[in-house]
Formats: sequence, C-alpha cells, structure tokens
Amino acid sequence: MTAVASPPVETGNHIGGRRSESHTGRTFESRNPANTDDLVGVFPQSDARDVDAAVTAAKTAFDSWRKTPWPKRGEVLLRAAELMEQRKDELAKLMTREMGKVLTEAGGDVQEAIDMGKFIAGEGRRAFGETVPSELRDKWAMTMRQPFGVVGCITPWNFPMAIPAWKIFPAVMAGNAVVFKPAEDTPLCALRFVEILEEAGLPPGVVNVVFGFGEDAGDAVVRHPHTKAIFFTGSVATGRLVSEICGRMLKKSSLELGGKNAIVVLDDADVELAVDGALWGAFGTSGQRCTASSRLIVQHGVLRDFTDHLVDRAARLRLGDGADSGVEVGPVINSAQLQRIHSYTGIGRDEGATLLLGGEVARDGALAKGHFYQPTVFGDVRPEMRIAQEEIFGPTTAIIPVPDADAALQAANSTQYGLSLSVYTNDLRSAFRAIDDLQAGIVYVNAPTIGAEIQLPFGGTKDTGNGHREAGSHALDEFSEWKSIYIDYSGRLQRAQIDTTKGEQAPPSHNPHRAESAPAE
Ligand code: NAD
Repeated sequence: MTAVASPPVETGNHIGGRRSESHTGRTFESRNPANTDDLVGVFPQSDARDVDAAVTAAKTAFDSWRKTPWPKRGEVLLRAAELMEQRKDELAKLMTREMGKVLTEAGGDVQEAIDMGKFIAGEGRRAFGETVPSELRDKWAMTMRQPFGVVGCITPWNFPMAIPAWKIFPAVMAGNAVVFKPAEDTPLCALRFVEILEEAGLPPGVVNVVFGFGEDAGDAVVRHPHTKAIFFTGSVATGRLVSEICGRMLKKSSLELGGKNAIVVLDDADVELAVDGALWGAFGTSGQRCTASSRLIVQHGVLRDFTDHLVDRAARLRLGDGADSGVEVGPVINSAQLQRIHSYTGIGRDEGATLLLGGEVARDGALAKGHFYQPTVFGDVRPEMRIAQEEIFGPTTAIIPVPDADAALQAANSTQYGLSLSVYTNDLRSAFRAIDDLQAGIVYVNAPTIGAEIQLPFGGTKDTGNGHREAGSHALDEFSEWKSIYIDYSGRLQRAQIDTTKGEQAPPSHNPHRAESAPAE
C-alpha cells in the first residue's frame, strides 16, 4: 500500500545554519515521480547572489572549523552517521517519495551514507602525514594535510544521500567549508542530510545548501572566485563545462561522470547466476545508476539460454510505486528522462536491433500518474550501435552477441566510458585476463556492475572522469592538499641539493656559537 504523503515542505536556502530566502523570489517544485499529484516541496530557484551569500557564510565558518581538532571533527561525523542510522527508515521513505527508487534500495542509499560517515570519522584519528628523511643533517621533514578552504559540491539525483555523503563527509573531515548545490529533483533529501549534520554538532555555515538549477545556481558555485575546488558528479556534458571553467580559473575539479557498463557472460559461466546479476544490474534503480549494466555481452554458446531466461524474468518484474511492498522497479525521475529513454527505443529499432521486451511508457492504472517505463531488452545489438554506446540511464539493456572471449573484451572496452565492467566465468584464466584487460575503474567477477563498497576507491577511467577517485583509504586525498614542512635545527644555512654534494664545504654560519659545534660535512 502506498504510504500516506506528508504535507509539502516550503523552504528557502540553508545558509549559515538558517533558512535564507533567495534573492530571485522564484521557486521550483519537487514532486513524487511515482505520483506527480504528490507535491514533496517547494524550493528557491537560486542565482549567483544566493551562492555568494553561501560562500560568505562558508568563509566565516571555515576559519574556526579548520582549527577544530581532527578527532573532534570526526566525532561530529560519527554522530551524524548514528543519527542517520536511527532514522534510516524515515529517510528511506522520504527518498522513495522524492526520487522513486524502491524502499529497499533507498535504505541501501542511506546505509551507504552511514557507512561513509563511520569510515571517514575514523580519519579524525588517522589523517596520516609522513615523516620523511631529509638529505641534510639536523633537519626534519614531514607532511600534513590542509583543507582547500571553501569548496563546491554539486550532485545528481540518483543517489540523493550516498553521493552527498561521499563528498561532504570527507570535505568537512579535512576542514573545508562547503557550498552544496544538490540536484533539482531531490532537494528535500539534501536538506534533511545537512540538517542531520548540524544536529550532530556541525557548526552553522560549515555546510550551506543552495537550491536551484544547474545553469544558474550550479554554474555560480563553479565560477565563484572563492570556491577553491569543485566536486562534481553528473553527466559528461555538464562535467566538461565544469572542467572548462575550473581549468581557466586554475581551480581543482573532481569529476565523476557517466558510464556504459557491461556484463560479459562467457560460455563457461553459470548462466542462472549471470541472469540474476543482469536483472539486478540492469533494472535496479530503474537503470538509473552510473554503474547500471546497460550492455550484456554474451558468448554464442550461452546466448540462447541467457536471453530466454533474462527476458522471461524481466517480463515478470513488478513495476510500481517503490513505497509499495513487492514492487521491484520504480519510476524514472521525471518526464524529460522518460521521453529520453523512450527515444532510445526508437533509435535501437532504427539501428536494426531486435526489441525483445518492453519498449513502451507504462500507463496501466496508477502508473499513469507517474513516470514509468517498461523494463526493456534489446537483442542482436552490435557494439557500435548507439544503444550500445550512449548512456540511456533507464531500464533498457542491450544484449550483444560475441563469438569468443577476445571479441567480448574488445566490445566491453569499445565505449568512451570506463566506470564498471564485469565478467561471468568459471575459468580462472579468463577471469584474470578480464581483470587485466578490462578498461574500467571498477571490475567485478561473477557479480554485476553495481554494488560498490565505500572502503574501496570509486571512479572511472576514460570519459567517466578526470582521474580522481572517491571513497576508499585515499578518500581524503581528494579533499585536502599536502603541506610539506622542513624544520632546520642546525643553526646555520644549509642548502638542499648543494651542501649535500660529497666533499663540498658547508657555507660559514652566521651564528658563531652554532658554527663551532656544527659537525664537519
Ligand atoms: P547533470 O549533469 O544533468 O546534473 C548533475 C548536477 O549538476 C545537478 O545538480 C545539476 O543541477 C548540476 N548542473 C547542471 N548543469 C550545470 C552547470 N552548467 N554548471 C554547474 N552545475 C550544473 O546529471 P544528472 O542528470 O543529474 O545525473 C545523471 C548523470 O550523473 C549520469 O550521466 C550518471 O552516469 C552520472 N552519475 C555519475 C556517477 C559517478 O560516480 N560516476 C554517479 C551517479 C551519477
């Protein structure tokens, strides 16, 4: 049964720990994608003036936050993770209502944020630097991390809490202050996330939320001269714009972009296991994951078996409101995305692929109130077709037949993206060869392309990003800069690279007391 909707929220931006009205006076709505009659909230459509106010608040908060001891900062994150844990069900319900993913997956999204909070909180008592030998006598050398200052975090709607957590937890752990521009489709999830951080003890102004659209609010965050680094997750097209602006401004940009991920199924694979993986990878979150299994590259020997089972089981997936028990596939995010997904069905047909399942907007009964698309499977897809190359970001997957393992790996590597690739095989040599040769940031063996865990680095090669990785044991590297410190206690001028040369005399000291006792070099 569908949950009873709470009344819509009407709010301003969240700046300096308080509600702040937008200078524009304009608003936008967030609606439940499973039932667009359900208004979740009304939010300000901010512009550069609002972003400027948020940056000012962040700059003020930064001075004190960066001086807060690392372990104290970690304690705030731990408390935030614990609060999220206590309210996991409530947060998951909100996420299902605002974004559409089914409740169990929404719970997983919140859990990922909790895991990240606990993991990063531990950095409060680590955040290790290095003690490094100096080439000179009586000289100490070491490194420590320092924050950038005010940073911008810009996020998409498909992981409304996990992705903000991946960015904001390590950013504040490292002592930065944040201006957060969440996706326009999931503003309430973003606000609740930041409210929990503040309830956990984060001082006002350390994280500020500016709602609005990418081309005005998002763009202003990127262009603001006092945002020192931009952490962005979204599409390749937007990532390029962000990167161009940051490049000109000599500003760090960390980009997590699109994917066109593939599961490779070789002849020796366990076909049922591969079908389980393909169903979860292709239709979980209605295919709206950057790691979704949107290509299924299948060797000839198991093609028939795999295809029959996949289509049979995909046809039985229950489509509906993710808040209803038993529903396996929820709506897609909005009407523009629904139309885009459907346009790819036309493109696939025109290219000569065989539509094996779905291919229509779902309008039966209550589905007519939301943005639902039938789980869609294409067969006879060639690797170069657009439906096998371009990110559709919906419940559409493409079966690509291949004669052998070489052709499978070649097809898997044939897109502009390099996020997540997987191989199903029971042959050890094939598995290790795939691990070596698949061009991606993430590789799975006998599991689908989705399911990353926060203690490993996350990110992709090629056009999926610009070489950065989030999460994992190096998570802080993204959000901090190194400071190298040299402490010379010799009492005389020592010249690196010069006074170390064998046989060369050190220059005379200006300190007669130290000069007498200084060791000969
Ligand atoms: P999008 O690029 O349209 O928007 C992402 C964010 O950028 C939103 O907050 C948006 O308002 C903002 N934005 C848009 N234009 C902007 C501009 N000119 N300047 C600054 N900000 C701007 O992407 P989306 O549709 O929200 O998300 C889907 C995309 O995100 C897919 O391509 C998906 O693969 C990708 N994604 C990648 C990862 C990853 O980790 N690699 C994870 C999730 C989603």
